[in-house]
Amino acid sequence: MAVHAHPDDEATSTGGILARYAAEGVTTVLVTCTDGRCGDGPGGVKPGDDGHDPQAVVAMRQAELAASCEALKVTHLETLDYADSGMMGWATNDAPGAFWNTPVAEAADRLAELIRRYRPDVVVTYDENGFYGHPDHIQAHRITMAAVERTGIPAKVYWTTVPQRAFQEFGKVMQEIGVEFPEPDAADEMPALGLPDDEITTWVDTRAQGGQKFASLAAHASQAENIFFLRLGEERFTELMGMETFVRVRDSTGAPTPEDDLFAGLR
Ligand SMILES: [Zn+2]
Repeated sequence: MAVHAHPDDEATSTGGILARYAAEGVTTVLVTCTDGRCGDGPGGVKPGDDGHDPQAVVAMRQAELAASCEALKVTHLETLDYADSGMMGWATNDAPGAFWNTPVAEAADRLAELIRRYRPDVVVTYDENGFYGHPDHIQAHRITMAAVERTGIPAKVYWTTVPQRAFQEFGKVMQEIGVEFPEPDAADEMPALGLPDDEITTWVDTRAQGGQKFASLAAHASQAENIFFLRLGEERFTELMGMETFVRVRDSTGAPTPEDDLFAGLR
């Protein structure tokens, strides 16, 4: 079970594992917590701009999510349908129904129900900073950890991460292909992204699933940040993004780390 914030988050950090384990016969469940209404609209119109119709964005992103799940052969898609909270500090953070505005215990109850229904051996979500500080990613982390605690069902729990050195490599490749790397607005306020290699417990080779992962991302081509990745082309994308990395934070199997399989100790 992978728990994600928005339609499209499943593609970049877990598209490879979802496809790989589905191919191995594992039942895969994707839980997407929000409806993605604060994403780009058709034609690239930005939230808050004229012509950005949240309902139309939601409908478009639902269809994209279904196509992505098709590409990754996800067995079950579950959507919690909270309203996308937008970036930290946006007025949408406090909107009624916004995920960020929903008590953790309330959303965790709904996720716990899904965990009891599917009984996943392995659960994957973000770290406590939601990897890069987006409120919905932080909230997805919080409700997942609360639901895991409540049910005690998963044998292993993982947080997605990226090796710090991958960012340098990524910037270099982007420069090579002439893509301007977008500067974050407040670079010095951003926490350091990713981890040094020795803090990463789990390295899963998903290069063989590169085509499916690229197709999953292509299904979400309405979003500017995905278009940016798609410009790499499938081959380079797979070279750069084909290894998916995680920190194991809960384990009842005793499988030694580093490990190269989320199901190590469970087979
Ligand atoms: Zn997201």
